[in-house]
Amino acid sequence: MILLTGGTGYIGSHIAVELLQAGNEVAILDDLSNSDKSVIERIQHIAQRNVIFYHGDVRDSSLLASIFQDHHIESVIHCAGLKAVGHSVKDPLAYYDVNVYGSICLCSAMQKAGVKRLLFSSSATVYGIEAEPPYVETMARGVSSSPYGTSKGMVEKLLEDLFASDPQWSVGILRYFNPIGAHPSGYIGELPQGTPNNLMPYISQVAAGVLPELLIYGDDYATDDGTCVRDYLHVVDLAIGHRVALTVLEEPGVHRYNLGTGSGISVKQMVDAFVASIGVEVPYRYAPRREGDLAAFWASASKAERDLGWQPGKTLEDMMVDTWRWQQFSNKAQQSS
Ligand code: NAD
Ligand code: UDP
Repeated sequence: MILLTGGTGYIGSHIAVELLQAGNEVAILDDLSNSDKSVIERIQHIAQRNVIFYHGDVRDSSLLASIFQDHHIESVIHCAGLKAVGHSVKDPLAYYDVNVYGSICLCSAMQKAGVKRLLFSSSATVYGIEAEPPYVETMARGVSSSPYGTSKGMVEKLLEDLFASDPQWSVGILRYFNPIGAHPSGYIGELPQGTPNNLMPYISQVAAGVLPELLIYGDDYATDDGTCVRDYLHVVDLAIGHRVALTVLEEPGVHRYNLGTGSGISVKQMVDAFVASIGVEVPYRYAPRREGDLAAFWASASKAERDLGWQPGKTLEDMMVDTWRWQQFSNKAQQSS
């Protein structure tokens, strides 16, 4: 059985579906602080398999001990955490508490239970503000622009130290670039609370008329069209990346992988791609740069391809179409509630 923390969240729910569809038994631990219990039924509906659900906090050591006691857990995928970059600047203690202390609680429960295989949800942000793209796994971690990014780097270091102390550990550090899109079934996707901070949910809410217009933060960056460049990947491809990364845990060590497509797309190109794929206008206006944004970064995707045989299979159009389907599903769900 695989223990998946944060499994009712955006990325975790897609990982749960992928694991169940591949025949794994899955237990989810989530405190529902940024997700909804209905996601469990939706995961089960898509996968046509049951999942075990624990409603609880990853910092609850006695709950963790009982989960490890009650099930034969082979590996853990740790997605639970706080992820809003701007919020982390305002409330850094919450980020160090949930992201760092939460990981300490999880690892110490694993150690006590003799479970030493872990995949960790890290982020491209650990490469830091000075790194030159493409980001390669051999680059050292840099200085992050936010407590969120720092918390991810701290957990990476903690996991490296854990392996140094006990070489039976197998740790997979997965550095996500910009996951977008939703499951093609339309049953699961990202559920931003309030106004979204991220580009893709913002675009789709503008297209749906929930928000009046998109502000494109900055048109004077040193990029082809002056807007920021990121490496967007489909969340289903990201979930598949976790399933295949579990295989590297058979080998003890610290395994670092970028999960990105290997190419960058600008904000303006994203808006144009959405309009071209969906045929709905997205009113936008240029606004000043957003504090803390980097001009451009994307992944070197060759290590994951070489070692894991992982390559994102979804197109930019898939990302747009699946985002839009999910937007319509969420609109309907809101209207009927
Ligand atoms: P999400 O907020 O949708 O999912 C995180 C889940 O963790 C939520 O369901 C939330 O309820 C749960 N959670 C939060 N605190 C918890 C706690 N103390 N105990 C138990 N559960 C808790 O976020 P996501 O986008 O699915 O991100 C998943 C992971 O991937 C996070 O660690 C995030 O930092 C990382 N990540 C996300 C992105 C991204 O763009 N979405 C990029 C890089 C890394
Ligand atoms: N962005 C934007 N308007 C928005 C949200 C985001 O122009 O309403 C830009 C943002 O400046 C960045 C890119 O879109 O250049 C991706 O932002 P997101 O927050 O999705 O990802 P991250 O900044 O974490 O890479």
